[in-house]
Amino acid sequence: MGIDPSEILRRRGLRVTPQRLAVLRAVSDQPHVTADVVAQTVGGEIGSISVQAVYDALAALTETGLLRRIQPAGSPARYEARVGDNHHHLICRVCERTVDVDCVVGDPPCLTADEDFGFEIDEAEVIFWGRCPDCVRETKGTA
Ligand SMILES: [Zn+2]
Ligand SMILES: [Zn+2]
Ligand SMILES: [Zn+2]
Repeated sequence: MGIDPSEILRRRGLRVTPQRLAVLRAVSDQPHVTADVVAQTVGGEIGSISVQAVYDALAALTETGLLRRIQPAGSPARYEARVGDNHHHLICRVCERTVDVDCVVGDPPCLTADEDFGFEIDEAEVIFWGRCPDCVRETKGTA
């Protein structure tokens, strides 16, 4: 860090707006956050911002590689500012707690498809689904 966030946006060719800066900050502060929570955080910070403006900012930041979008099956997309290291996620099926796990291999894609059908593959998105320790304890009861 230590780099001015405005400078980060400019380097990616993005126009610097208070909305984009606030969205970038909100996601940096709360990894794996949903767009709704970003909207709440940013709204509380810079005042009225439409949900559409939040989505637009998230899209611009994701397209330029400043944010990463994770789309777990059956739940809303999450955003994070930890990009470019090809890490993966553990997600609890019960409480949706999301945890980063480092990639074993390090280079994307970390898995080799049996057959690439001529595609130039650059990513394998891995999500480990299960139950977090708290939820496991919960279902085991207090015995
Ligand atoms: Zn859980
Ligand atoms: Zn992550
Ligand atoms: Zn990996």
